[in-house]
Parts: sequence; structure tokens; C-alpha cells
Amino acid sequence: MLLFEELNIIEPIKKAIKTKGFTKPTAIQSRAIPSLLKGMDLLGCAQTGTGKTAAFAIPILQGISLQHKAQASRRQIQALIIAPTRELAIQIADSFEDYGKYLNLKTLVIYGGVSQNPQTRDLTKGIDILVATPGRLLDLINQRYVSLRNVKYFVLDEADHMLDMGMLQDVRKIITHLPKEKQNMFFSATMPAEIEKLANSILKNPIKVMVTPVSSTVEIIEQELYYVDSGNKVNLLINLLKDKEIISALVFSRTKHGANRIVKNLVKAGLVAEAIHGNKSQTARQLALKNFKERKTRILVATDIAARGIDIEELSHVINFDLPEVPETYVHRIGRTGRASHGGTAISFCSHAEKPLLKSIQKLIAKSIEEVIDHPYPLVETSIEVIVKSDRRNTSKKSIIEDKPRSSRRNNDIKKKVVRTEKTRSNVKGHKMRNE
Ligand code: ADP
Ligand code: MG
Repeated sequence: MLLFEELNIIEPIKKAIKTKGFTKPTAIQSRAIPSLLKGMDLLGCAQTGTGKTAAFAIPILQGISLQHKAQASRRQIQALIIAPTRELAIQIADSFEDYGKYLNLKTLVIYGGVSQNPQTRDLTKGIDILVATPGRLLDLINQRYVSLRNVKYFVLDEADHMLDMGMLQDVRKIITHLPKEKQNMFFSATMPAEIEKLANSILKNPIKVMVTPVSSTVEIIEQELYYVDSGNKVNLLINLLKDKEIISALVFSRTKHGANRIVKNLVKAGLVAEAIHGNKSQTARQLALKNFKERKTRILVATDIAARGIDIEELSHVINFDLPEVPETYVHRIGRTGRASHGGTAISFCSHAEKPLLKSIQKLIAKSIEEVIDHPYPLVETSIEVIVKSDRRNTSKKSIIEDKPRSSRRNNDIKKKVVRTEKTRSNVKGHKMRNE
């Protein structure tokens, strides 16, 4: 693999990379940067945490900075980067600022949910690089605050997530405002048909860089599985958080409502937690994220959309309070820990109802997640199933129940109710099917 030294990167950017503490380019960086510096289009397929941002930011900064010298006029938008979420856009802009620290270039990030006035004020002053979410950008184009006539570099980041969020329409409209002649970079972790169509419509003879399939990207992350009834998930979470080794945890909830409820319970238990999701104002989201990054908040409870692309260096734990509906989301989530090569732990809770979701996740990552058996809130229904099976087959196979005196006292009771439970999913004595 090539080193940064061998990539023909200009001195001021090399210096900034050193300041960041990067020693070697990641796979996508060493493969994409040389072609991008030659002006080629790029289609990059890679998971989060593979270093995509620097892969496009470095060549763009270098290209603009080399041309900028000859171009003494007022600053004009030369690079446009579109990203699906505000958080992600902010992070990309931060990266441009980091890698371009020793260059005289201006980056601006715009997104919705906040007043447009500071954004339009900065736009009027003149900028070189614009990072934006689609909605606000289109809005400001229509109000003629943004002209994309001079764009030479166009990046679409995390394109597959725009599909979930119904942003593709806006993206297509934005593209009509861009000049034909430009360098295009398209990044997506997966390539559903719709995304592939969009990529084909934008890219000209792109070089294709595919990086490490899902399963190997997450290899450095330790993955643990806890079977737990949904009504006991909060108790288990509180119990796990007593462990001081969990320095900071990003907890994923399926719903906004659920996220609020988890935070409420954690706070009640004396833990420092905040929620981040789409119902919170942009200011509240930024503040929660800032507190978390600065370790003022130990636990951040998030929904998938709010957490997308969030890059927190050295995040020790990701906890899947609820398993995601889409298996790829599991990989995106746990990719929040183990960024670059730090390593980290991903803990997943799985209720009886979530077992099919677990199955598709394990199929995707091509391995089974190691189960933690010894915990205070074991799944009641699993135990029931074990009894049923060994009962029906009439084998002498030991059931888990045997180690658990409290449950085995109800052994006979449960046996009788088992068939009905499986069919109707109604309550077993002492076990409520809450939230399922
Ligand atoms: P992606 O967009 O693929 O999710 P990012 O570009 O956000 O990935 O990078 C993920 C993390 O890895 C960031 O914290 C970034 O600072 C770090 N990183 C990027 N390139 C390198 C490198 N060459 N060496 C070490 N760390 C890197
Ligand atoms: Mg990224």
C-alpha cells in the first residue's frame, strides 16, 4: 500500500495530515487519491470509518489551492459536497478545515432547521468549498444566494442514505444547476438500483474503488449479544453502565419516543445521558453532540438518522438497545466505534421478537455474535422454548432453566402454557410482553 509520501500531496496538506496524527493512508485513500488528483471521476463503495472524507477532501483541497493561486478574483464556490444529514455535513466541513488548515481557503456548511441568515451572510462574503444538505441548498439556490456555475468538484457522500430519507428528488434538481464539465465523486456503502442509476447519470468513466466488505470492516470491533425481554432492557442497560470501563456509550433506539424514555430512565438512575433525534432542535442536537464529544455526557441515546455519520474519536461502546430493521444499519451503527483502527465494543440487546432481525444481521456479517449468558435479566421466553423442545423430543438434554432456581420453580406451570404462548404471544405468568 502507498504511503502519504508517495501520493504527490502538496506540502501544506501533508503537514496538516501529520498534525492529525495520520501515519498511513487508509485503503480507500491510497486507491482513490492518485486517480482523483489526475482529475478522474470516482465511484467509491465503502462502509463508514474507512476514511472516505479525506479521500475526497485532500484531492479537492489540492486542486483548488493549485488553481487558486492563478485566480485572484473574488472567491467562488469551486467544490460542492452534498451529505444526507446536518451532523455529517458539519463533520465533512470540519475535515476540510482540518486538512486545509495551512491553505487559504474558505469552507462553509449549510443545512436546514436553523435560520438561513448567518448562512446567506457567509455566502455573500464568498467561499471556496460548500458542504450542504440537499433541502437547504436547493432553497438557497432558488433564492439565488448560491450559484453553482463555477463548481469544479462535486461530491455526493453517503448516497444510499439519501434514498431512505427521500432526498434524491432534491439532489437531482441540484445537479441541474451544476456545470457539465466538472470532476464527480460518488460515495455509497451499498448500491441499490436507484442509487446506481443516479451514479451512472452523474459519473463519466469513473474509476471504481470498493473497499473491504461489511464483515471485515467490523472485525476490529468486539461484538456482544444479550438476549433480554424488552421490558427488562432498561434495567439491563443501567446494570451494564455500572461498569466503569464503558467510558462513553452511544445507545441506539428505534424510535424518538423510545430514546426520550431511555434517557429519562437513565437520568432517574443517576446516569448522565442525553438524547439526539429529529424532534430536537438543531441547536439542542449540536449541544448534545458537543457534550458527548467532550465527555460531559457519558451516554448519548440516538435514533439512526440523527446518528448517521457521527464521528466520535475513541468512542468505547455502541449499544443497540433495539436491533435495527435493516441489517446494514447494524454495521453503520457499530462502525461508530472502532473508527479507523481504535477498536471498540458493540453490545446488542435482542428480545424474542427481535430474533428474526438478529438472524439477518448475522447473515450479513457472516458470523454469529457472541452471546453473553451470565447476566441478571435473561430472556424468559428463550427458557420456555428450551423446555418445550427438550420436552417434545423427550431427551435428557439439560435446559437452561436448571441453573436458574427461580424459573425452575415455575417449570411445570410454564410447560402447560407454552403452546398457547407461542401461538398467541400472550402473557406468561410474571412475564409481560411489553413493547413488543
Ligand atoms: P468515513 O467517511 O469513511 O466514515 P471518515 O473519513 O469520517 O470515514 O474517517 C473515519 C475516522 O478515521 C476519522 O476519525 C478520521 O479522522 C480517521 N482517519 C481518516 N483517515 C485516516 C488515516 N489515514 N489514518 C488514521 N485515521 C484516519
Ligand atoms: Mg463519511
